[in-house]
Amino acid sequence: MKNVYCIGELLIDFVAEKQGSDLSKATDFTKKAGGAPANVAAAVAKLMGSSYFVGCVGKDPFGTFLLNTLEKGNVDISLAQRSATITTLAFVSLADDGERDFVFSRGADKELSYDPDLKNHFKNQIVHFGAATALLGGNLEETYSNYFRDALLSDAFVCFDPNFRTDLWKGTENTFVQKCLPFIKQSHLAKFSLEEAQLISGKQDVTEACVYLHNLGVKTITVTLGKEGTYLSTTTNQKIIPSIPVNPVDTTGAGDAFIGCLLQQISQVKNMELTELPFNTLEEMVFLANKVGAITTTNYGAIVALPDQNQLKLM
Ligand code: ATP
Repeated sequence: MKNVYCIGELLIDFVAEKQGSDLSKATDFTKKAGGAPANVAAAVAKLMGSSYFVGCVGKDPFGTFLLNTLEKGNVDISLAQRSATITTLAFVSLADDGERDFVFSRGADKELSYDPDLKNHFKNQIVHFGAATALLGGNLEETYSNYFRDALLSDAFVCFDPNFRTDLWKGTENTFVQKCLPFIKQSHLAKFSLEEAQLISGKQDVTEACVYLHNLGVKTITVTLGKEGTYLSTTTNQKIIPSIPVNPVDTTGAGDAFIGCLLQQISQVKNMELTELPFNTLEEMVFLANKVGAITTTNYGAIVALPDQNQLKLM
């Protein structure tokens, strides 16, 4: 079994308890562990894979809470860093008009420093890059690019998820797209939501969007479509893989659970060159990942809601 290294942010989401009031009025907040790459690491570990989180939190109680949460979920945190800067915090509320109100206080996540020794860990393993905050500048952006180069040079299997957040890129969407392109060009697998595939390709139709993205260089693409399942696309085959029916209560982290499950399965196969696998093997993998995404929506919290292998067997 290969290790899955997840690189990017781990932060606190303070979610307003009473929906319907904007942040100026909200009084009570629930503290939750957040950060897409960290959620992916948690999903891999929950499914009995081996995952490492590579990112930075503060040397404060929030950082301790976050690392404890990952460690309790069997994610290896030995490569995580801590800095004197306060842990990154995000405050979220749904305002009366249904709009999200969002305040982002960027802190320690941007301070991840580069460790050249990590390339020895990456050799023939899996490295997942989640880009939500990594492309926002800071030390992290440079470190992230260095690790991406190292992963490719180490013959790792490289996965990229743009993790577009409207709140973080309002008015600068084009900069986001330009920053994503080099990663999409060189990754072995890229995961998009439909919105991300459309934004980056400029094409509304999912098939046309994937043609554009394949032309950039990536050979295997998944576009997650919520309850409709996932559009799986290789350079030779395309198909919508259905999901299972569920009653969702919180869709946060479904995409992270999905890609975590896919990477956990890839970590078990000898041949990580996905285009050399029969397409129906990929379909089966994506179907299982859809199930994990679906089950994650039936409970609150991205990490708490993750199913284990036993729950999966029951569905
Ligand atoms: P995120 O919000 O984490 O960025 P995303 O938009 O990439 O996620 P979704 O499309 O919401 O991800 O969900 C990922 C996968 O989980 C989907 O491809 C689908 O298979 C499954 N899924 C999500 N929501 C539902 C649902 N309501 N019913 C059934 N399956 C679902």
